[in-house]
Amino acid sequence: MASSGVRNGGPRMSMKLDRQGAGAMPKAAAGKQRLSSAAGAYRRTSSGPLPAAGGRASSDGVSSRVRVAVRLRPRNAEELAADADFGDSVELQPELKRLKLRKNNWESETYEFDEVLTEFSSQKRVYEVVAKPVVESVMEGYNGTVMAYGQTGTGKTFTLGRLGEEDTAARGIMVRAMEDILADVTPETDSVSVSYLQLYMEMIQDLLDPVNDNIAIVEDPRTGDVSLPGATVVEVRDQKSFVDLLRVGEAHRVAANTKLNTESSRSHAILMVNVRRSVKGRNEMDVSISGENGHSSSMMGSLRPPIIRKSKLVVVDLAGSERIDKSGSEGHTLEEAKSINLSLSALGKCINALAENSPHVPVRDSKLTRLLKDSFGGTARTSLVVTIGPSPRHRGETTSTIMFGQRAMKVENMVKLKEEFDYKSLCRRLDIELDKLIAENERQRKYFDDEVERIRTEAQCRIAEAERECKITLENEKMKYHQEYLDSIKVLEEKWKTQQQSPKRQIKEAESTSSDVGEAHNLLQNEKMLRQSAEDEASDLKNQITHWKKLEATATTEVVKLRKMLDTEASQKEKLEEEIGVLRSQLLQMSMEADETRRSLDKGDGPGKIFPGLDSLTSQTRTSQPREQNNGPKQPIAKLCEQVGLQKILSLLESEEPDVRVHAVKVVANLAAEEANQEKIVEAGGLTSLLVLLRSSEDETICRVAAGAIANLAMNETNQDLIMAQGGVTLLSMTASDAEDPQTLRMVAGAIANLCGNDKLQTRLRGEGGIKALLGMVRCGHPDVLAQVARGIANFAKCESRAATQGNKVGKSLLIDDGALPWIVKNANNEAAPIRRHIELALCHLAQHEVNSKDIISEGALWELVRISRDCSREDIRMLAYRTLTSSPTLQAEMRRLGIKL
Ligand code: ADP
Ligand code: MG
Repeated sequence: MASSGVRNGGPRMSMKLDRQGAGAMPKAAAGKQRLSSAAGAYRRTSSGPLPAAGGRASSDGVSSRVRVAVRLRPRNAEELAADADFGDSVELQPELKRLKLRKNNWESETYEFDEVLTEFSSQKRVYEVVAKPVVESVMEGYNGTVMAYGQTGTGKTFTLGRLGEEDTAARGIMVRAMEDILADVTPETDSVSVSYLQLYMEMIQDLLDPVNDNIAIVEDPRTGDVSLPGATVVEVRDQKSFVDLLRVGEAHRVAANTKLNTESSRSHAILMVNVRRSVKGRNEMDVSISGENGHSSSMMGSLRPPIIRKSKLVVVDLAGSERIDKSGSEGHTLEEAKSINLSLSALGKCINALAENSPHVPVRDSKLTRLLKDSFGGTARTSLVVTIGPSPRHRGETTSTIMFGQRAMKVENMVKLKEEFDYKSLCRRLDIELDKLIAENERQRKYFDDEVERIRTEAQCRIAEAERECKITLENEKMKYHQEYLDSIKVLEEKWKTQQQSPKRQIKEAESTSSDVGEAHNLLQNEKMLRQSAEDEASDLKNQITHWKKLEATATTEVVKLRKMLDTEASQKEKLEEEIGVLRSQLLQMSMEADETRRSLDKGDGPGKIFPGLDSLTSQTRTSQPREQNNGPKQPIAKLCEQVGLQKILSLLESEEPDVRVHAVKVVANLAAEEANQEKIVEAGGLTSLLVLLRSSEDETICRVAAGAIANLAMNETNQDLIMAQGGVTLLSMTASDAEDPQTLRMVAGAIANLCGNDKLQTRLRGEGGIKALLGMVRCGHPDVLAQVARGIANFAKCESRAATQGNKVGKSLLIDDGALPWIVKNANNEAAPIRRHIELALCHLAQHEVNSKDIISEGALWELVRISRDCSREDIRMLAYRTLTSSPTLQAEMRRLGIKL
């Protein structure tokens, strides 16, 4: 029945899975008790990385059962030989984590373990299953214990302490654990140190310093922590030094045991690995302790010390668990034997007590239990490997080992993070800071003292200065007031005196003085005003002066310019005056010569050229003079013309000076008297100038001479056309009606008479009033004028007659139309021969055409014609009249009617 039962009620859980530890592990035993009541006072509880899932967490930590693995040693040679016929006392079911312990050939007990490691389990696997979770836990800040329990020779040391120098795979837990630890620490901030001890006969001996063989266990009364201050602590930095330490330790252990005449299996070997790690990134000081300027006091409150984790891995290679009496060979006394195993039995008792949840755990019974206080029922994560041999001969030991393991499985620890503030480090830093602050404070204090001294000195100086000034001012004020006081006393005395003497006079004086003052004030005001206005005026004048100065400057330049121009003009004028002088003298000479010439002439030219010289008023009836006679006076004029130029002479016609004009017109008239000059004069615009002069001038001489010149120019047929074209007839007609001077009228009449002799201009001449002007001039009555009028009428009549004969003219004579016939009839028998002859000719010409006959008859001209044909002294005219009368049927008929006979 029992053979199939599972004796151990412990949970079958893989230790591998218990990586994070206790939290995942169900509570093993209902009742449990802590090995140490002091455990609760353990430093501080971290809120750190402890897993809570499934775990029973409290402020004291998280429950974590002691893990127990069983390891079966392979048969050794001896066993193989001795027990060849027997089967193993144990049968392992690693997959079920069970172990069957054969009681005999027919009975067996089955036990469950956290791990069942067969004889084939590698060292590596054993490490990973048994120790690695504990090592990792240590690295996280928890205490950890790995312990081997078992009969001597079952492989405790093999499991824990093999160095594996010759075979890497044989390395035990200690070496592998250190490897993992060293791989995980940060050398700059973390540290790993070891102590290696053995416990024998309740004596703790330092395996690293064997002389030190009675190391005391010190328990912190406050926290309950145990420590071995006397033990050598060696800091481990690399694996090799650690292995060397182990070797040294092992050597010492063997040596010591030989010395003690015992076996190493009788002692407990304890390796203590202390791991100290700083926690990074958390609980660092929030603010740096000191800024550069050293103002740190206010920050002290926020300072938090750095946090460190100080965990401990304890690897315990227990002494053999076999009963001492059984081994016997060493020859120890019973007491000795008891003492040797005291610790082990005490451990058994403690574990029993813990497993049974006994209220008393006899921790203090042995040094071992005291040292392992934290490992069983404490705060450490504990892993136990129980080693057994296969031989049935040691069934008892094997059973007792298995039972030990089974009980240990019931022990539950409360794992706790071994985390604390690193007050030391904080203290160091604060010390440094404090020193800095002290130095700074000292400096500042000195500065303040100096400053206070400086200000004090300055203030004293100022006070002294102020006092001095105050004193002086006070003195001055005092003197001033004293003086004023004296003055006012004096004044008052004087006033009093005066008032005493004559108050009335004083009143009067005061009045007059006040009126004087008023007057003076007014005067002063007046003066002020006057002064102001004077000043204004002065500034005005100044401005004006400036203005004038500017103007003066401008004017000066202008004056210079004008002066230059004036000089130029003056020199030009001088030149012109010289010229005029020359001209004048020449003209004078010419005039004289002309006069002389005139005087020497006693006859005029032919009917065309009426005025061979100037003022030849009496010579118009004369026939042409020999040319030679005119040569004399002509020469100087021609010469002059060559010298001065015709244009210049003509321009003098418009001269401002009357004398010059008179001389000029005389010269032009003389030139015009010569046919050779006429064309030139007209070309140069002389004709126009003369006509304008005739119209505009009021000077009689000029008008007369100009008219003479025009008359001379009008002899030429071309000039006649030009005169007509330039409105000459109109101008002449106007002069004819306005002029009074008979000589002027004679010249005008002569000019028109010349025009009357031009066949082509008949109609136009008459149209522009030429005939009427001619007839109008008879009012003058001067025979010279009448003679020119008669000549003109005769010329006109002759041209008309010619035109009629040629068939170019039809209709009545224009002369008759313009009323010339009565004057013709009236003067036909004029005493003056030139008049009479021209009229006789005119009548003849008119009568030659039948169309005029009727008027000739009605105006009584027929009688005159008859008379001419009978009495005219000039035969040619007489004959002409006769022929005319006889050839005209109308006149013939009238004569017949009147009974006239030729
Ligand atoms: P203990 O320390 O328990 O007295 P040891 O570790 O000294 O036992 O082992 C006794 C002997 O058994 C040693 O020679 C060791 O090499 C051997 N041994 C122990 N365990 C094993 C194992 N698992 N495999 C092979 N040999 C082993
Ligand atoms: Mg051993």
